[in-house]
Amino acid sequence: MTALDVPAWIARAAERIAADADRLTRLDAAIGDGDHGHNLRRGFAAAAAALPGDGPPGRALIAAGRALVAQTGGASGPLYGTALRRAGKALGDAPEADAAGLAAALRAALDGVRELGGAAEGDKTMVDALAPAVAAYTEAVENGATLAAAATAAASAAERGAEATVPLRARKGRASYLGDRSVGHPDPGAASTALLLRALADTAGE
Ligand code: ADP
Ligand code: MG
Ligand code: MG
Repeated sequence: MTALDVPAWIARAAERIAADADRLTRLDAAIGDGDHGHNLRRGFAAAAAALPGDGPPGRALIAAGRALVAQTGGASGPLYGTALRRAGKALGDAPEADAAGLAAALRAALDGVRELGGAAEGDKTMVDALAPAVAAYTEAVENGATLAAAATAAASAAERGAEATVPLRARKGRASYLGDRSVGHPDPGAASTALLLRALADTAGE
């Protein structure tokens, strides 16, 4: 396995988000407005439905990202939509998403989320899962890991990053309105990012 099946990843992500939507919504009910799972279930269903039947993986990511932005309410729609579109642009018209191409795509996704949302690591957002995932993926590939092994390292780093948001005080998004009351809860967007990266790793490992 030297390349990621991007449409299979998006389809699996949509399934996992749907299966975990209630959990994501509960996390958001604790420190936000209780719609994160609902927003993403709708958005990723639209993204999966918008996948072209063939063509380069970068085009599939751009189509999925556009659908996400159009169909997802809340802050997370534009953020995840931007992430997917930037990742797709980074892949360009390459025929495959290989290990190095995916490194550039993940980095571009993170840069897009940071630019749009203005969040840094430690602000208790999806960046706290995505940034360590990109770092772990890149390091693994630089050390000669396969795409699947690097993706597994990324998923584990995202899960640790999401867990590490619990003691943080939110500085971006709705949860920041709570001030210190956001402490003691995981960030829902970091949790969904971890789920998306685990879906990526499981797809890469097939
Ligand atoms: P909303 O807050 O508009 O209801 P969602 O509930 O769908 O949107 O998504 C909330 C998640 O979005 C948060 O848990 C956080 O991870 C992420 N988020 C919110 N604002 C930002 C931001 N400025 N930068 C990065 N991520 C953000
Ligand atoms: Mg919300
Ligand atoms: Mg909302």
